[in-house]
Amino acid sequence: MSDTDAGPTHSLAEARERDADDSLRGYRDHFSVPDGERYMDGNSLGLAPDTALATLDRVVDEWRALAIRGWEAADPDWFHYGEHLGDLLAPLVGARESEVVVANSTTVNIHTLIGTFLDTLPGTPAGPDPAADPPAVLVNDLDFPTDHYAIRAQFRQRGIDPDEQLVAVESRDGRTIDEGDIEAVLRERDDVGIVFMPSVLYRSGQLLDVDRITAAAHEHGALAGFDCAHSVGAVDHALGDAGDDDEGADFAVWCSYKYLNAGPGATAGLYVNERHHGTTPALAGWWGNDKSTQFEMRHTYDQADTAGAWQIGTVPMLSSAPIEGATELVREAGIDAVREKSLALTDYLIDLVDDRLGDDFSVGTPREHDRRGGHVAIEHPEGYRVSEALRDRGGVVDFRPPNVVRVCPAPLYTRFEDVWHVVETIREIDETGAYRDYDPRGAGVT
Ligand SMILES: *Cc1c(COP(=O)(O)O)cnc(C)c1O
Repeated sequence: MSDTDAGPTHSLAEARERDADDSLRGYRDHFSVPDGERYMDGNSLGLAPDTALATLDRVVDEWRALAIRGWEAADPDWFHYGEHLGDLLAPLVGARESEVVVANSTTVNIHTLIGTFLDTLPGTPAGPDPAADPPAVLVNDLDFPTDHYAIRAQFRQRGIDPDEQLVAVESRDGRTIDEGDIEAVLRERDDVGIVFMPSVLYRSGQLLDVDRITAAAHEHGALAGFDCAHSVGAVDHALGDAGDDDEGADFAVWCSYKYLNAGPGATAGLYVNERHHGTTPALAGWWGNDKSTQFEMRHTYDQADTAGAWQIGTVPMLSSAPIEGATELVREAGIDAVREKSLALTDYLIDLVDDRLGDDFSVGTPREHDRRGGHVAIEHPEGYRVSEALRDRGGVVDFRPPNVVRVCPAPLYTRFEDVWHVVETIREIDETGAYRDYDPRGAGVT
């Protein structure tokens, strides 16, 4: 842009004005924001809210005071805690309370749900017609790796060759997946039994059209499942009435430690549409038994008639308790208001990248609101070294190969001012060449 262009004039003062006008600004006070840091990694690990620490403390106190009696005498009781948290989460994903439960980890939930639904399909050993050709599961080539590992393992356990039946829709640009390409595979192949897609791609931040994918899967006789790890808590969902006839997506999984801020390794969540309640879980366990007969300790599995059936073992209370307080914050703020602020923050971030950073920097995230999740992928050939230099200067972001700096202004605790500072710091790192002081990429968690 030339000097004479009257482009938008961004400034720290402007960012601060936007913060002063932000109706959610008070929520930041609930969070432990590291001193002197601009924390932009809430899509990997959300910051600790005091409400989550309070429900965790309460359960620790209950353990001390009640010991074994806590399963019934705690409030809420521990025995139904996974279901209780499911009730709290249901409005955030747009589902009925009976369709949501907190259980296991995301990867385990992918195992049990993919396994469960494979077993309902022709061409699998437990399915209605074992002699039929095996079903395919449709994924994409930008997926988070654990999803493919788990699905491949489920195929192998059924004697099905994953190299043949795990089918990945290819990205056209290395960043995004075109929903039209998912529909094209469904038209070409008549063996797709399950379409399993992310709601938001972990690298580029593209938000996929859950409604359209559900409709396409159902039109072709396939089930529609979603990995919502990168959206629950930041994006409003309507899983329960996705699809052409509002029939709902079939199943979904998500993490609690990203935008839900429930702490490292917090117990995950899952959704199973009520039309599938009663289907036998692939990884059955006593915690999925009907609660009223669970302690009769019979050797016949009497599965719960809710999504609770996909629990496996004892609810991990200490990894689940923070979800209660953390989710209450999102519910109180309102998921629509949270989404609105998230979009305002990422709009602002994209504007600043366009206006203030050099031509080597570009935005890899779709710009349309309905195609964008909660973070922005800033691409740069030296992305790794830039992200390291930024971290040393207080900007906590992460790097994803080959060239993506992921910047996540999580809506409950990030200020416009923080976004401003992060982009200005990147600008300085670029202009001074400070990133050259850093070694090219090694290994490790970022
Ligand atoms: C973070 C993430 C996971 C993590 O799974 P865990 O079992 O919690 O380690 C899975 N899928 C996606 C898409 C993710 O972003």
